[in-house]
Amino acid sequence: MQTSFHVHSKTCGCSPEIRAAGETDTRPRVVIVGAGFGGLSAAKALAKADVRVTLVDRRNHHLFQPLLYQVATAGLSPGQIATPIRTIIRKQKNAEVLLGTVTAVDKIKREIVLDGHRINYDYLVIATGARHSYFGRDEWEQFAPGLKSLEDATELRKRILLSFEKAELEADAEARRRLLTFVVIGAGPTGVEMAGSIAELAHRALASDFRAIDPHAARVVLVEAGPRALSSFPEDLSRYTEKALGKLGVELMMNTLVTNISEQGVMLAKGSGAEALPSACVIWAAGVAASPVAKWLGVEGDRAGRVPVGADLTVAEHAEIFVLGDCALVKDKTGKQLPGLAPVAKQQGEYVGRVLKAEARDKTKPRPEFKYQDFGALATVGRKVAIADFGKFKLTGFIGWLTWCLAHIYFLIGFRNRFSVALDWTWSYLTFERGARLITGPVSQSVLPAASDGSAKRAA
Ligand SMILES: Cc1cc2nc3c(=O)[nH]c(=O)nc-3n(C[C@H](O)[C@H](O)[C@H](O)COP(=O)(O)OP(=O)(O)OC[C@H]3O[C@@H](n4cnc5c(N)ncnc54)[C@H](O)[C@@H]3O)c2cc1C
Repeated sequence: MQTSFHVHSKTCGCSPEIRAAGETDTRPRVVIVGAGFGGLSAAKALAKADVRVTLVDRRNHHLFQPLLYQVATAGLSPGQIATPIRTIIRKQKNAEVLLGTVTAVDKIKREIVLDGHRINYDYLVIATGARHSYFGRDEWEQFAPGLKSLEDATELRKRILLSFEKAELEADAEARRRLLTFVVIGAGPTGVEMAGSIAELAHRALASDFRAIDPHAARVVLVEAGPRALSSFPEDLSRYTEKALGKLGVELMMNTLVTNISEQGVMLAKGSGAEALPSACVIWAAGVAASPVAKWLGVEGDRAGRVPVGADLTVAEHAEIFVLGDCALVKDKTGKQLPGLAPVAKQQGEYVGRVLKAEARDKTKPRPEFKYQDFGALATVGRKVAIADFGKFKLTGFIGWLTWCLAHIYFLIGFRNRFSVALDWTWSYLTFERGARLITGPVSQSVLPAASDGSAKRAA
């Protein structure tokens, strides 16, 4: 193993502990970028390894993304699905946490650039995940935000709840219809979960809270370019999901392309026809692209920017650089790409941890290949229906939903979060209530419909 040399400076970014120990500590330094599912599981798997771990993230918290849609639709609060990384790593003596954004990797010097500081590594593990992709139409983002971070979720929650507030003040029927039309683009798991949850919010949780408008009248439209919802699931589960969404009052528009998104709403194309769908609240759940790791490493990524890696998850000619999770392009034995799912990232992180732990003991041992174990997939369609595909058997309805609840509670980090989420779900199951219906951030008057005489209009 080549131990790298690092000149410390006031701005080198190393913690005092590392700085003091740096010159004498001969343990290899493993720098992990990203404390999401992949990076965190790699760090934890190295707890008892004879290495120094530096875990870097641009946020101070690990986020449980599968439940973000519940924050966006006022079911859960941000604190219930996020945990400070320092709290998680507190007891791991061989690990430190650094807050900052990585912008480059120097493969020759074996350093990362973190907010201008250079941090050296012997091994580098990159697990920086993915971001939204608007297929080259980035200008759509302002009108149709996606869901990836807590900020995205609270912004969407604000837009959804404000639409009802604005509609309550609006006298013009057409403008009110636009305010009460919610469009979700993309019928993958996130789109299905968002659409189902907005429909329940409108038709049940808010049903009696307004005087001028009837939230029952809200339209929730799920637009999908392909022929069916949840295309990664077996067809019978897709059909089941579409029916369940229909029962919740979600309108499905399959085989429909989005051709434009503006302040007014969405332009759609179906077959040879075109249609305008006026909406004040459009949600993007259609595309993701990997974070810019390929650029940092000077390699060619696939169309979604994912970095191709070998059987041990390392980059060609760099056995010391691992890339995993949503930003890695990994294929199984049949040549099928592994999906961008939490269990894939977690298993890859655990694998890298095992490999580096073994290598810290004996560097001569060959690395085993990474093998993904598929335990199945789940998706929920509202408050008490979910589907589960375990290969040999499938679950739907309430049993599916219970399985979904248990799996998500089990994988949440921290007893307090598990307990409070279970309590909130039970409460919401019994009462339809949403505990986190808060509009946060500035609510300027400009967002409220203004009457021609300058005073706010009131619905009849
Ligand atoms: C809304 C939503 C719902 C989902 N639902 C499910 C589900 O139900 N089931 C499922 O299995 N999967 C689900 N997924 C997918 C799953 O969350 C991802 O596959 C998984 O998070 C990938 O893990 P990762 O470690 O690759 O990246 P992430 O978990 O995204 O972690 C990446 C980390 O890197 C950090 N980072 C990024 N760039 C930088 C940088 N430049 N410098 C420093 N730090 C950086 C980020 O802050 C983040 O903490 C969902 C995803 C979303 C967005």
